[in-house]
Amino acid sequence: MKLNSKIPSGPIEKKWEEHKFELKLVNPANKRKYSVIVVGTGLAGASASASLAELGYKVKTFCFQDSPRRAHSIAAQGGINAAKNYKNDGDSVYRLFYDTIKGGDFRAREANVYRLAEVSVNIIDQCVAQGVPFAREYGGYLSNRSFGGALVSRTFYARGQTGQQLLLGAYSALSRQIGLGAVEMYPRTEMLDLVVVDGHAKGIVTRNLVTGKIEAHAADAVVLATGGYGNVFFLSTNAMGCNVTATYRAYKKGALFGNPCFTQIHPTCIPVSGDYQSKLTLMSESLRNDGRIWVPKKKGDTRPPHEIPEDERDYYLERKYPSYGNLAPRDISSRSAKEVCDEGRGVGPGGLGVYLDFSDAIKRLGEDVIRDRYGNLFDMYQRITNENPYKVPMRIYPAVHYTMGGLWVDYNLMSNLPGLHVIGEANFSDHGANRLGASALMQGLADGYFILPYTIGDYFANSGGKKVSTDHPEFKKALEDAETRTKKFLSINGKRTVDSFHKELGKIMWDYCGMARNKAGLQIALKRIPEIRAEFWENVKVLGSNEEVNVSLEKAGRVADFLEFAELMCIDALNREESCGGHFRTEYQTEDGEAKRNDEKFCYVSAWQYNGEGKKPTEIKEELVFENVKLTQRSYK
Ligand SMILES: Cc1cc2nc3c(=O)[nH]c(=O)nc-3n(C[C@H](O)[C@H](O)[C@H](O)COP(=O)(O)OP(=O)(O)OC[C@H]3O[C@@H](n4cnc5c(N)ncnc54)[C@H](O)[C@@H]3O)c2cc1C
Repeated sequence: MKLNSKIPSGPIEKKWEEHKFELKLVNPANKRKYSVIVVGTGLAGASASASLAELGYKVKTFCFQDSPRRAHSIAAQGGINAAKNYKNDGDSVYRLFYDTIKGGDFRAREANVYRLAEVSVNIIDQCVAQGVPFAREYGGYLSNRSFGGALVSRTFYARGQTGQQLLLGAYSALSRQIGLGAVEMYPRTEMLDLVVVDGHAKGIVTRNLVTGKIEAHAADAVVLATGGYGNVFFLSTNAMGCNVTATYRAYKKGALFGNPCFTQIHPTCIPVSGDYQSKLTLMSESLRNDGRIWVPKKKGDTRPPHEIPEDERDYYLERKYPSYGNLAPRDISSRSAKEVCDEGRGVGPGGLGVYLDFSDAIKRLGEDVIRDRYGNLFDMYQRITNENPYKVPMRIYPAVHYTMGGLWVDYNLMSNLPGLHVIGEANFSDHGANRLGASALMQGLADGYFILPYTIGDYFANSGGKKVSTDHPEFKKALEDAETRTKKFLSINGKRTVDSFHKELGKIMWDYCGMARNKAGLQIALKRIPEIRAEFWENVKVLGSNEEVNVSLEKAGRVADFLEFAELMCIDALNREESCGGHFRTEYQTEDGEAKRNDEKFCYVSAWQYNGEGKKPTEIKEELVFENVKLTQRSYK
């Protein structure tokens, strides 16, 4: 198969404008003849559903939560980037584009990233018009702060609840369309499979999570906005329900999976505190604007932080990366934390922690200013750890946070399966091998409000018109498969809980496909994962029945998919014999321990094709062409 990414020709600043003109339009009166299924109601799905309905398409929207506004996007804390240059500190669309390409270690498509930077400014206007309460300066201008990997202040925020406020905006727009009858909303409904007819995505199969009813839905196009798969690691900062099922099922139906091994580890999370834990808590990157990160210089120093004098502290990010300091990008900051902990200089129980210290900022600005900026994050930290971060430094450690991999899409955000569009964290993303902070919200809203509404019409106008109903044999088959699989889960009646398998898988993924990877470790993982999977299908115990709310059954389906998908991640990680961004292969590093890319061999997107059970997937390459930026060794020194 040869991939066509449909990148328009011409100068980068003109590509999107000209492409929009070249895209075919659907006559407004004809739009109501087309139906679209949108799976997901996070920032990407809610904004897409609202925009498509506003345009006149008939939309059916699905989410597994009890309300669309509980999608995981609600958890986002720190902010959303936009190249508004309100601070007059040298920002521009080009600089946001460049920072994002460099931040992603030159493994993203130039044209997509430029478009993202270009529409970032529209997103802020749209959200302000919706009433999103962004923080403001004294004079009324929207306020900004800095996030990692940038030397300008371009992050718009609403205290530490930016995702929640943005989602309320998108949810209001969606609710309006639900009220008008333009969107049919299906909460508590989980997509179990994609239906493909004559090579085109034409529908989905779902399970009602309250009644257990398994149903088919047909449409002229399907949009997946189903978020990321960080929970393959069991412990992560993601909401407990985040999963890979929708995208993995689409992969098994022929959609290509791009760069599955590209995972982001966030440097500032509350450290793991015991075996009982099922979730890790993020301390937003925004805290690194004022917090200073350090560990004792001496190994095994167990003195409390206030007893360690200044000259016995190692502010290692400021030392190693003087120009970016505590705002070095996430992959680099995470690896540095691991490095000092591996040297025996970590703090707290087990030595797996570093300090994030606000004492200097409090001395300089006063406690009230710090409370204004980060109050809810400090409260959250105190509630979880029972330590007061205004008085003692926070203890933090890296944790799995975001997945840059996802279904491969072209410039129109359509997968290789015509009709299947993928947006937000679910696609293989504009972030390359490492996402910069505050760029996921930007991408989700760019895709949903400003890109898909233009590009989906082109699919309909060109080729997507063929109508299919749920009577088609492909729907019947997908329904039967979903029912058989559900019955199978309930009939195994083994001895182990679903969670115990998930935890075991997660530990293997963290140990061998986590912050650092190497050939030997990945080979161990590739041997162990099929063994765990085999035991799962023999020995899992799924409680209850299908015709009721059954969390154990929901989890079983998601973990079964993780148990297959994890293998694909390891295959991809083993195959990519270089280090780039969050993909750090210990065999490939520079003398000072930085990621060492191999542009000659690996300057491409790996898009994996499913070949059937037990068969190795095929790697299809999309070569990345850089016409505007020069590939360099990333430096934040
Ligand atoms: C703690 C935390 C803080 C963050 N802070 C920031 C930040 O400050 N700035 C930033 O830019 N990014 C941040 N991120 C990342 C960002 O929040 C996410 O990448 C982004 O919100 C994802 O949006 P989405 O719309 O793609 O998916 P999500 O918001 O994850 O939504 C997924 C949707 O898909 C639905 N779904 C999934 N699978 C199925 C299925 N099988 N059937 C039916 N429905 C399904 C869900 O119900 C949900 O509605 C943060 C992430 C975390 C974990």
